[in-house]
This record gives sequence, structure tokens and C-alpha cells, in this order.
Amino acid sequence: MKIKPFTISENEKELVKSLLQKITETKRDRFSVVNLETIYGFLNKKEIAFLKKLLTLNPHEYGFKGEFFGIDDVPKDLVEIEGQKYEVDTEEGFAEIGVRYLPKKVYKAYTKMNDAMFNDIGKKLLIASGYRSSAYQLFLFVWYLNMYEFDIEQTVKRVAMPGYSEHCVSDNVAIDFITTNGIPNENDERRFEDTKEYEWLLKNADKFGFKESYPKDNEFGINYEPWHWKYGIMVKNL
Ligand SMILES: [Zn+2]
Repeated sequence: MKIKPFTISENEKELVKSLLQKITETKRDRFSVVNLETIYGFLNKKEIAFLKKLLTLNPHEYGFKGEFFGIDDVPKDLVEIEGQKYEVDTEEGFAEIGVRYLPKKVYKAYTKMNDAMFNDIGKKLLIASGYRSSAYQLFLFVWYLNMYEFDIEQTVKRVAMPGYSEHCVSDNVAIDFITTNGIPNENDERRFEDTKEYEWLLKNADKFGFKESYPKDNEFGINYEPWHWKYGIMVKNL
């Protein structure tokens, strides 16, 4: 079967610029957990129609191999995680992570796991990225699409389409961990896979319902991400 290519017209490229500007101007608190209706509320009919068309794009036709999870509603029981700090080599000595979100049951499992890790090795992990909504993921996707000058192949490699990110699945959300001394960090050679925290996760995370999503040479063709752990394997007594 021949697949009809996904095309973006010159008019639509102009629409993208105006819609990104509108969304950026109206951005406010809790933006990373915004829902689609709120985003559509900022936009005109043509801009909304373009976003709806974009949601039909199939990234598997552009070399992305990740699973499709579906587009969920934003969970009502999100816990706000604020004031997380990690050590950095500056005068101040620390950096603070902005507010992050997790559904309550995932937050509970994370807290239990962190306490157990602290008991065992005296270390805790912070949340670099937790739950984000599909609507926010759509905004990110459009932002990168524009940045890559509408090159779909490059965009799908850089950012998951809405519905394809483990950070947007409310029941089985993934967490990107960061150590309290700031590993991983793009500008740093220290590797997460060499940390005591990672060694501990490999041995114990399953007891708390977490699983490493993208080990080395994973079947999804996704880069090795030792810090990315998904919640949702069945556990008793949690
Ligand atoms: Zn991740």
C-alpha cells in the first residue's frame, strides 16, 4: 500500500508561527499539564484544524519505532513537586528544578522507593521530568517542528509525538531521574550508568513497580536512557 505523505503547506507554516506565538504569550502556571481544550481556547479555527491534522501524523512512517499509548486526559490527582535542588559547581552551589508533576500513586511509589534507597546507600533521586500532558507534548512537537524548519523526520527523532511519550501516560508514567549531584547533565562527562543510584535501581526498582524503559540496544530503536524508568509493573503491598 502506498502511504500518502504528510504535507505542510506554506499557509500552514505561517499558521504554526502565529499559533506558537499565541500559545507562548498565554503560557502560565501548570502549562506542562495543560489540556487540549485550554490550548484550543487560545487559537482560531484554522490553527485548531492544523493541530488536529498534525495529530494524525504517523511517526512510524518517519523512522520512529516507539509504541503508541493513546492520548489520555490529564489526571485529576497530580502531586506538585517543588523545591528540588541538586548540587552544581557554581558560587551558589545548587540549582533548583521547576515544579514537576506525578499522579498520586506514582508519587507514592517513588517516595517509598527513595526512602528504601536512602536506607540502603544513603542516596536519593530527584525528578528531572515526570508527568506532562499530551497537549503540552503537542506544543513541544510543534515548537521543534518549527525549529527544524518543518523537517518531520528530524522532529520525530528529537521529540515524541503526542500519544507516543511515556511521560504522558497517566497510569504508567515514566520518570527521568537526576541524582542530587546533578547526573545526568548534558555538559558533564559523569554518566548516570556509573552511579551507585543506578546500580541500586537495577537491583531494586522492580519491587516498587518501576522498570527501565530503554536499556542498551532496546527493541524500540530508542537511545539508551538509563535515567528513564516507567511505573506500572504489578506490585503487591504498595
Ligand atoms: Zn524520559
